[in-house]
Amino acid sequence: MNTTQHKAYGAKTKDANLEPMQIERREPGSDDVKIEILYCGICHSDIHQVRNDWKNSVYPVIPGHEIIGKVTNVGTNVSRFSEGDLVGVGCMVDSCQECDSCKKDLEQFCENGATFTYNSEDKHLGGHTYGGYSTGVTVNQDFVLKVPENLDAKATAPLLCAGITTWSPLSTWNVGKGDKVGVVGLGGLGHMGIKFANALGAYVVMITTSPSKAEDAKRLGAHEVLLSTDEDAMKSHTGTFDFILNTVPVGHDINPYINLLKIDATMVMVGAVEPLEAVNGAGLIMGRKRVAGSLIGGIKETQEMLDFCGEHNIVSDIEMVDMQEANSAFERVVNADVKYRFVIDMASLKN
Ligand code: NAP
Ligand code: ZN
Repeated sequence: MNTTQHKAYGAKTKDANLEPMQIERREPGSDDVKIEILYCGICHSDIHQVRNDWKNSVYPVIPGHEIIGKVTNVGTNVSRFSEGDLVGVGCMVDSCQECDSCKKDLEQFCENGATFTYNSEDKHLGGHTYGGYSTGVTVNQDFVLKVPENLDAKATAPLLCAGITTWSPLSTWNVGKGDKVGVVGLGGLGHMGIKFANALGAYVVMITTSPSKAEDAKRLGAHEVLLSTDEDAMKSHTGTFDFILNTVPVGHDINPYINLLKIDATMVMVGAVEPLEAVNGAGLIMGRKRVAGSLIGGIKETQEMLDFCGEHNIVSDIEMVDMQEANSAFERVVNADVKYRFVIDMASLKN
């Protein structure tokens, strides 16, 4: 198979910094789109995977699943994309397309295993897939998204993961006008959660551990800010929330948030992919409350989210960094000090 060389940044072990690497990408087959990567967001999942927090990393890890780029070449079967188009690639680059999940547009739950953008088996070249911290990528056309041209391209990158991961639960649970919605954790996912819940007409409460983020939360669309460390404030909101979106990236005590839910209301977990502290059954039973989970979103839903963003002028609040600054950006994300998503300018890697 013909391949081309690309510059990339990756980590060789779980304790290593990201460093420059050279990788190969396949030349487009008949169903492929070849993309020159312009921007790539830094998701907290990139850090979890580089540091092997989920115990399934394969090295080198070349992270990045919030990719925005320009099409440079397409295969013979590709008619929806052509050279020069602005496109996005999110967390998946392939799936079986035949199982029940794929047929329901839930490729993220592909019963034969979706191919994730990095750290999945590479069915074309062997080895494992490499993500967007690189100058180019080749992707099956069904996993390439159209990006609304009216939006700032750099600030659309985080929509491909932080956007769809918060959009999907809000949409699945029909959040809208008249709902009181809590978003826990003001980082990359949380800030998109606020924007979407606000745009859908909900009354939005930012639930944060960082008093310094209160003003930003309101600017982003929160109607109220609740400090989760303030017990009295938490008590005053007991039993009042219709829906809570929890983006906290580590295992933690969710009982205080369950107390905030109304009867029959749901909290959806999207952050912690690890054991949570013990849940007191009483908190769920006394109120028929629910705790659920959600994983990114399917390709059709991702396109719907991007189109909604185009119509409502929604993008992420970003800080641009050069590829060479990614290690210090990682540190700031881990310290909950990101405002509110880092995006890598891939031009810095080409020079
Ligand atoms: P992020 O930018 O680091 O934001 C996380 C926020 O959570 C922090 O800014 C902080 O907000 C809060 N937080 C951090 N540590 C905390 C702690 N110990 N206790 C309470 N709050 C804490 O991360 P992200 O990129 O939004 O990602 C969030 C999580 O979602 C990550 O674990 C990521 O891997 C996961 N993720 C899941 C999916 C999915 O499909 N389910 C998709 C993408 C990412 P405050 O300062 O406001 O408290
Ligand atoms: Zn992500």
